Amino acid sequence: MELTVLSLFDAADLLRRHEISSVELTQATLARIEQIDTQVNAYLTVTAERALAQARAADERRAGGETHPLLGIPLAIKDVICTEGVRTTAGSRILENFVPPYDATVVQKLKAVGAVILGKTNTDEFAMGSSTENSGYFTTRNPWDTTRVPGGSSGGSAVAVASGMAFGALGSDTGGSIRQPAAFCGVVGIKPTYGRVSRYGLIAFASSLDQIGPFGRTVRDAAILLQAIAGHDPCDSTAINAAVPNYLESLELGLKGTRIGVPDEYFIAGIQPEVESAVRKAIDVMDSLGAAAHRVSLPHTDYGLPTYYLIAPAEASANLARYDGVKYGYQHPDAHDLMDQYVRTRGEGFGAEVKRRIMVGTYALSTGYYDAYYLRAQKMRTLIKQDFDRVLENFDVIICPTTPTTAFKIGEKTDDPLAMYLADVFTLPLNLAGLTGCVVPCGFADGLPIGLQIIGKALDEATVLRVARAYEQATEWHTRKPGV
Ligand code: GLN
Repeated sequence: MELTVLSLFDAADLLRRHEISSVELTQATLARIEQIDTQVNAYLTVTAERALAQARAADERRAGGETHPLLGIPLAIKDVICTEGVRTTAGSRILENFVPPYDATVVQKLKAVGAVILGKTNTDEFAMGSSTENSGYFTTRNPWDTTRVPGGSSGGSAVAVASGMAFGALGSDTGGSIRQPAAFCGVVGIKPTYGRVSRYGLIAFASSLDQIGPFGRTVRDAAILLQAIAGHDPCDSTAINAAVPNYLESLELGLKGTRIGVPDEYFIAGIQPEVESAVRKAIDVMDSLGAAAHRVSLPHTDYGLPTYYLIAPAEASANLARYDGVKYGYQHPDAHDLMDQYVRTRGEGFGAEVKRRIMVGTYALSTGYYDAYYLRAQKMRTLIKQDFDRVLENFDVIICPTTPTTAFKIGEKTDDPLAMYLADVFTLPLNLAGLTGCVVPCGFADGLPIGLQIIGKALDEATVLRVARAYEQATEWHTRKPGV
């Protein structure tokens, strides 16, 4: 049996019934990585020995009577999430040799239930990008067409899950970095509510927007992962202290009576016709399953992109001040004084996009410009949030495209930062509003996946997952596999 094509749920079932061991499952996944990762470059670091040791431990725990659905399941972790004793680069040369002394809370939680960590996946540097082309190491390739990008910044995690190199993965989403690569790679991705999942041990990009979330091959797989990582954490003061519902219990309850808002502003000029028609057909499918879709308006949508590209760089410029060569990572070897050390360390350690963000952000925060840029962006952020809140008073979910197009060609947008930023025009507003969203495959155009975005109220991941699951189970898109 080819184990690596199974869903996480099905693999867990085989483990539970003792038909396979975690060691076998882990060996099969490592073999798959060995066999195909040279074609797609999803992993920055593979920790085969550690993974096999964790698999052996998981098998022993199962022999001792433990049963968690993640016990013995091989997973991948985006390289912006700290792993004790395992190099964590954030896709940056400045952290090339950084080995964290502790695990992020999400990693601790996965280890506690016996998951197996295969390694660390590629990302745009400090999660700034939409294609993994800003990685300081290499570009990850889309398994559906290796001349195309996988999306970003969590491109490595999306590719690992799409191509049988992990049964699930964690990513981070500041402006779309889970949802956009999930759409481009034909997998499920969840951006949890801001504060639903601890960010302790997540290398910070933009602290009022960053959120960790899971990738899965099915909605159920992603829900199992979210269940394991969600919840309060005293180590992260932004983690919300609210009970986490049982997502699996409500997952199969169907769509009857579900009120769906379809925002006019997300079907704009420039959207690829096949993307629009796939999303509209998906909404028809949901209608036929008992949901009721209506047109709604999110009038400040146009301002999402400029608002995000002031707030995110402003916060990034502050967060990245710590990489000065004193405590972390790369240090220029022969600077003649402290200022020279800062300048050369940062000049050599950061890539072009990160430098661009630091400059934009520092400018937006500087005296005289703060009111004109940062403060106004914050006000606009409130208006964007109010748009969503108003619609979600009367609707259970909002449904729209995830991206205006399918995966673009490698190199197509690297010389035009604005064109690259536009890849996230449908995902950024959700982060500004702090809400939750799930992406589920809803079609293909020329062999490339299209993703449906389902947005829900704060802390209402359960409804979003239920809607995504009902649609997924009524269609067959999630059963297709890429050629690699
Ligand atoms: N692509 C967006 C950016 O470059 C979002 C990135 C993310 O969500 N981490 O900022």
